[in-house]
Amino acid sequence: MAGRVAPGLGDKPSGPGWQVRGRPVSLATRHGKEKVIARPFRLGLGVELVLAAGFDTDSLGTFSGERPRQDDAETTCRLKAEAGMAETGLDLGLASEGSFGPHPALPFLPLTIEWMTWVDQAQGQVITERLVGCRTNFDHCTADAGTDLDPWLERIGFPAHAVIVRPQWPGAEPHLCKGITGVPELRRAIIAAASASADGLALVETDMRAHRNPTRMAAIRRLAFRLVRRIATPCPACGAPGWGKVDVVAGLPCSWCDSPTEWIQHEIFGCPSCPHTEPRPRSDGLSQADPQHCPLCNP
Ligand SMILES: [Zn+2]
Ligand SMILES: [Zn+2]
Repeated sequence: MAGRVAPGLGDKPSGPGWQVRGRPVSLATRHGKEKVIARPFRLGLGVELVLAAGFDTDSLGTFSGERPRQDDAETTCRLKAEAGMAETGLDLGLASEGSFGPHPALPFLPLTIEWMTWVDQAQGQVITERLVGCRTNFDHCTADAGTDLDPWLERIGFPAHAVIVRPQWPGAEPHLCKGITGVPELRRAIIAAASASADGLALVETDMRAHRNPTRMAAIRRLAFRLVRRIATPCPACGAPGWGKVDVVAGLPCSWCDSPTEWIQHEIFGCPSCPHTEPRPRSDGLSQADPQHCPLCNP
């Protein structure tokens, strides 16, 4: 979750004196994320954001799929931060990225991960935090002109949360309509998409862009505080910013037979700038696993 940037991005000054406070930070966004990110970074780290809104973040891929992502969400997030830095000419940058999809183990549940990455080229650091399984309204349904969508729309928080409409098949442009927050507009889009669809159905999806999705914006705010806390935490060995959880180790002992389970036993804390790591007990204090998760007691 954290690591050194590739050589050539900037050399870390030797010795003590890691400096963050007072430096301008570029934020690559066209979706108003500065509204929830600026404050935690100002209060927690004493840095001001400089908006890099000229960079088309959609060029790295869109949620709605017109442009597929070339990389995973974590990589995309770092590339976005670096593109913002290139635009603003700053050596410090931030970006956030979300990934939304069915849960790998429980396909009827959505799994959302929000990523936020801090790139410090002057000091050779990349620090990433994420929020897994944050509250979300990520969902979709199909409709034609006669479908009663009210219960679904209420559940996903429409019209405070926008929706996207497209033909169910094929789902591509030019019939894609984003950012819909009005009922007449929604009805028109459904009729147009349904008539353009081979099966006569429109696909209605939640719009996951931050400025059209207050639930997601709230998750980004929480993540910003988490990342600020991490950057403000120095490595106990070298003093570099960004000390925090980098890995987990399974093997929490069963409370009946003491054999290791798949549950997490330790968290590993690490530094983005030196090899120092420390095992830490679980943050929730759990020291034994329920026997129902034990391969011996409950095979
Ligand atoms: Zn057991
Ligand atoms: Zn260190």
